[in-house]
Amino acid sequence: MTELLYLNDCYLKEFNAKVIEAQGNRVVLDRTAFYVLGGGQPADTGKLLRSNEEFRVLNVRREAGRVWHELDREGLQAGDEVKGIIDWERRYKLMRMHTAAHILTMAVQELFPNALVTGGQIDLEESRDDYNLPELNEEIVKKIEEKANEIVSAALPVEIKELPREEAFKIPQLFKLRDVLPPSLPKIRFTRIGNDVNACGGTHVKNTKEVGRIKITRTKSKGKDNKRIYFTVE
Ligand SMILES: [Zn+2]
Repeated sequence: MTELLYLNDCYLKEFNAKVIEAQGNRVVLDRTAFYVLGGGQPADTGKLLRSNEEFRVLNVRREAGRVWHELDREGLQAGDEVKGIIDWERRYKLMRMHTAAHILTMAVQELFPNALVTGGQIDLEESRDDYNLPELNEEIVKKIEEKANEIVSAALPVEIKELPREEAFKIPQLFKLRDVLPPSLPKIRFTRIGNDVNACGGTHVKNTKEVGRIKITRTKSKGKDNKRIYFTVE
């Protein structure tokens, strides 16, 4: 079981760890600050150093309960001590994008209180979220963008909290992702931004002002009650 360091500290850029399993060009570490692919967010990239020897981390994936760091070459062995370094510029952009996705949902729900997220993907240049909305016109899109940027300007703290699973399930507002059940963990981790709470295991900035300006780049109808909003951060 790999300890996921980013759950408690999204700003951790470097860490020391031990290789507990090696298989070709991939390794399991006892602890990692690399975000694991999932929840609509790409994994972190970066490097693992064994003394001065560098191994590039190309992807980090969960498989059968284990977290595999996929490297550019073989060579690391169980027992090796390594230093992990995250490609910070890339990760910080993803943190801003991910937090922007929460803010966008807050803005959408202010206009459409019953709207739920039906899908989404965080990426470096452009991200997207899908909502079960009947329509989106230019005026509505403008209102959503304005509201989102008000939340950014309000410089609200982004708090990370945890609740025992049973208690979390008593708060329906925590679960905004339609048709998706949270992982079967004993505790549910969630974010709080103003009055908004949202079960999430992703990486976030610690204040909405770090997101920068949110720009809705385009929208797309994905059916009668499903609308896609593309956005970026500036
Ligand atoms: Zn999140």
